Amino acid sequence: MIVVVAEHAGGKLRKSTLELVTVARRLASGLKSEITGLVMGSDVSPVADELARFVPKVVVAQDPELAEMRAEPLTTVITGLCKQVEARAVLVAASRSGLSYSPRVALRLDAPLLEDVTSVEVEGDQLVATRFSYLSRVTETVRALTWPVVMSVKPNLFPVAQAGTPGLAEQMRPSWGESDLRVQVGEKQTGQGGRVALEEADVVVAGGRGLGSAEGFAALVEPLADQLSAGVASTRAVVDAGWRTYAEQVGQTGKTVAPKLYLALGVSGAVQHLSGMNRSTIVAAINKDADAPIFKVADYGIVGDVHAVVPALRAALKELE
Ligand SMILES: Cc1cc2nc3c(=O)[nH]c(=O)nc-3n(C[C@H](O)[C@H](O)[C@H](O)COP(=O)(O)OP(=O)(O)OC[C@H]3O[C@@H](n4cnc5c(N)ncnc54)[C@H](O)[C@@H]3O)c2cc1C
Repeated sequence: MIVVVAEHAGGKLRKSTLELVTVARRLASGLKSEITGLVMGSDVSPVADELARFVPKVVVAQDPELAEMRAEPLTTVITGLCKQVEARAVLVAASRSGLSYSPRVALRLDAPLLEDVTSVEVEGDQLVATRFSYLSRVTETVRALTWPVVMSVKPNLFPVAQAGTPGLAEQMRPSWGESDLRVQVGEKQTGQGGRVALEEADVVVAGGRGLGSAEGFAALVEPLADQLSAGVASTRAVVDAGWRTYAEQVGQTGKTVAPKLYLALGVSGAVQHLSGMNRSTIVAAINKDADAPIFKVADYGIVGDVHAVVPALRAALKELE
């Protein structure tokens, strides 16, 4: 059995889960195995119904203790299901939550863990994957020699699965040990002021060192992102300068995004940045240097100063509202 661990937010599946379904389907024929989706949460029946459009069987673990992202109880549920169905492969998204429970699941299953994989296939009786290593300077091939295998898959690299024959959802009743509930989640503050998550955004506005300062970034990138209901991304130079947090970094050592529109402001287009956004459908760039490498990948480009072009762009967008 291949187990796909679903992630959801706001009562909807995350895009990364449908990418995991694509990976699971590719592995299913090589492993001659079926696919089971696992949905965990406190009130997740709609999410389970949504996932059942993509996989033949969905197991739903609903419990108030699963309302918040806590690695310990999630690990217990995932491990319990994997043992029950004798999972050969366990697929999780390489998100912050996936990266926190996947090592625990691997430990409990005594399974090899392939982290942050960027491609995967079955070769004979082994699972072979690629992943970035050495601060993303190297792409290495890794081979799991035993089964089952736990694998976290880097988001936005695989296509989203199309719906298949509708499947069935069945309930699973979790039970807790003493060590499962030792961490309680308290007060929450949203980092991006409720802005759309970067990995899920259809439109991304990215800022680079060309914004001049943290204040310049906030004054130009954020209002434009709000106007376009977009996620905000940063280059590593901006993160290293302390203008923005690492959570916004896109590129080889940051997040991988694949929006319909990627708008790059004052971004040079270094190869390490491009590797995180080159699956965007349309790239538009504003840069004062006509020879900036970003224009080589841009579908639309404006050569100009962001301080002049962005306000003009915002005014033009306002007229369309
Ligand atoms: C191992 C490794 C991993 C890396 N990983 C990442 C990564 O994950 N993500 C990442 O982004 N980088 C990464 N980098 C860094 C990368 O090589 C670049 O240094 C970085 O992307 C540059 O950021 P930038 O475009 O903001 O800055 P710069 O390269 O300094 O470019 C700024 C651009 O702004 C333009 N500009 C300046 N003023 C204005 C203005 N007023 N109006 C319009 N345009 C203006 C300039 O013409 C220039 O093109 C990595 C590097 C290494 C070695």
